[in-house]
Amino acid sequence: MKLISYRTNDGNMLGIVTERGVLDVAAAAQAAGIPRAITPDAVFRRGLPVLDRLRALVEASTDAALFLNEADLTCGPAVPNPGKILCVGLNYAKHAAESGAAPPDEPVLFSKFNNTIAAANEDIPLQADWRTVDYESELGVVMGATVRNVPVEDALDAVFGYCNMNDLSERDFQMKSGQWLLGKTLDKFLPLGPYVVTADEIPDPQNLSIKGWMNGELRQSSNTADMIFSVAEVIAYASRIMTLEPGDVISSGTPEGVIMGMDPRVWLQPGDEYVVEVEGLGRLVNRMVEA
Ligand code: ZN
Repeated sequence: MKLISYRTNDGNMLGIVTERGVLDVAAAAQAAGIPRAITPDAVFRRGLPVLDRLRALVEASTDAALFLNEADLTCGPAVPNPGKILCVGLNYAKHAAESGAAPPDEPVLFSKFNNTIAAANEDIPLQADWRTVDYESELGVVMGATVRNVPVEDALDAVFGYCNMNDLSERDFQMKSGQWLLGKTLDKFLPLGPYVVTADEIPDPQNLSIKGWMNGELRQSSNTADMIFSVAEVIAYASRIMTLEPGDVISSGTPEGVIMGMDPRVWLQPGDEYVVEVEGLGRLVNRMVEA
């Protein structure tokens, strides 16, 4: 299934993209006599057990009025309120090289906060003193189950789905101290979406093309097969330290082609557009604007 969240006057609502259009899940649930609202937050907080109910809702929804035209919707963030936002640094060998770093022996984990969450097609305001802004096309992972000390071979069973992410970064702030946090958690610096595609439709997350375009020019072109630590390895590793829960998201690292690795470096400016496209997950388009 392909889930989308879209903005309404009542907040972010959940849609399911089907051949008949985007199912308005709240309206479909009401029509089916389900008393409680099914919001994106409710779905991602419950995780995998809710998928069968959503599938049943699609099956039961025969009234054409329950389906919306995707082109008429304004996307909300694909996961509006993640519990935790974990990121993996230097997870592609050629990106580590262009960053001047040795390939790490263990996953390099860092975090962003929820102020970074932004939607597909949403403008990203750049403050005047954010002068070294860079893009990072990434495969995003949405957790669907609670795991602690999960073995690598079971780790993908806990994944709800996948989405495009752009781990936007301000390099001067990132490198200011030993902590990357400042350069990573600026407002709206993690656009994600437009969809969360459920894991059953992505049987192998380590064989997906991953591409990024700046103003239409192909800048990043790789495959998730080139990750140093696989999605399963990252989940298993992180779960030795912390309990991972439904609604947590992981941005699994960027391949080479970021501005930081270029000479000269022409950083993202208001007016620039960046597009992330991981195979099967749609296109995440965002424009930088003046704050
Ligand atoms: Zn990144």
